[in-house]
Amino acid sequence: MQDTLSIIKPDGVRKKIVGKILKRFEDNGFEIINPRYINLSKEEASEFYNIHKGKPFFDDLIIFMTSGPCLPFIIRGENAILRVRELMGSTDPDEAAPETIRADFADSIDSNVIHGSDSEQSAKREIRFFFG
Ligand code: ATP
Ligand code: MG
Repeated sequence: MQDTLSIIKPDGVRKKIVGKILKRFEDNGFEIINPRYINLSKEEASEFYNIHKGKPFFDDLIIFMTSGPCLPFIIRGENAILRVRELMGSTDPDEAAPETIRADFADSIDSNVIHGSDSEQSAKREIRFFFG
C-alpha cells in the first residue's frame, strides 16, 4: 500500500467533474482519504510548486491555482504514486493517452484539472503540506 497526494485543480471544480474524477480512482481500486475544498493563497501555491520557481510558466501557474477552490486529497492503494500518474495522463492533454483524466477533461497544459505527486519524496512532502 502506498499513499500519494492529488489535487483536483480549480478548473476541475469549475467544470463540475469532481465526482467523475474521484470515481475513476475508486473504480481502479483506490481509497480516497480526506478530500476537502480549500482556497490556496498565492504564498501557499508558490510554496507547493516551489520546484518550478523561475520557470516561464510559474506566474501563470500560481494565478491558475489560486483562481478558485481546489480539492486536495490522499489516494491510497497499491503502487499509488505511479498508477495515479498513469490514470492522470501526460501534463499536456494533447499528449495524454486516450481515456486518461487529462485526455478526457483537460483543456490545455496550463489548465489540466488534476495534480498527482511524482515520486515518493514528493508524496511525503505534499501530504505533509496539506495534512500535517
Ligand atoms: P502537476 O505537478 O500539476 O501534477 P505535472 O507533474 O504533470 O503536473 P509539472 O512539470 O510538475 O507537471 O508542472 C506543473 C504544472 O505546471 C503543470 O501541471 C502545468 O500546468 C504547468 N506546466 C508545466 N510545464 C509547462 C509548460 N511547458 N508550459 C506551460 N505550463 C506548464
Ligand atoms: Mg508535478
